Amino acid sequence: MGNPGELVAMVRLRRGVVGESRRVCHVVPVPDPWQARGLPERLTALCGEHIVVEQAELLPGLAGMPCEPCLLRSAPRQTLPKGA
Ligand SMILES: [Zn+2]
Repeated sequence: MGNPGELVAMVRLRRGVVGESRRVCHVVPVPDPWQARGLPERLTALCGEHIVVEQAELLPGLAGMPCEPCLLRSAPRQTLPKGA
């Protein structure tokens, strides 16, 4: 099987789980078996935030306020070559 590379999802905590100011859009690496087995119970965003899937919603793309630490960590994956 091929390497899926850096597949990521945009995830945001649901309304009521946290205050509106913390409902930012996190970038979450998607584990390879996700599609085969369904969602894991817990995900870890690039910024280190632990997200309980039941308390979160999957977004089709960036929506609302992005999580800046997540964005900063995800950007180099798309723009810089590996190595060094
Ligand atoms: Zn984040």
